[in-house]
Amino acid sequence: MTARKIDTIVIHCSATEYGNRSIFKRWHKKRGWDDVGYHFIINNSYPKKKDWYNKTPDFSSDGRIEKGRPVEIAGAHVRLHNENTVGICLVGDRTFTAKQFESLKKLVKRLSLEFKISSIKGHYEFDTAQEQGKTCPNINMVMLRKLLTDPD
Ligand SMILES: [Zn+2]
Repeated sequence: MTARKIDTIVIHCSATEYGNRSIFKRWHKKRGWDDVGYHFIINNSYPKKKDWYNKTPDFSSDGRIEKGRPVEIAGAHVRLHNENTVGICLVGDRTFTAKQFESLKKLVKRLSLEFKISSIKGHYEFDTAQEQGKTCPNINMVMLRKLLTDPD
């Protein structure tokens, strides 16, 4: 059972072309956090830096959902709004794969069954992100919410 009350899902992008949980965990630890800031990471075909630089995509990782920080623990992904939110990061900057969107939809559905989710937001929709000039996840949230809540 979770002690904190989760009612909002926050979508992020990594703003990098490559990456995975272990890379983000390393970066976030450098910021002084004790774990990766997100609760879930959805991979594209470039989990490792060398795959991106060598132009050798790893298709088996495309759409893979990695667990980051346990959901029972508040994340570190959206300033002043970590207490009631779950953070999901899509690896990518401005382009994301169909498999990533499929996995995101599945994950949102799963979390909606587990928690009483009342809203799905993009990072940029928070007041604190706007103050910071963030555009994350670089996806139009009106469109994305429609996609995520559309019954199949
Ligand atoms: Zn973000």
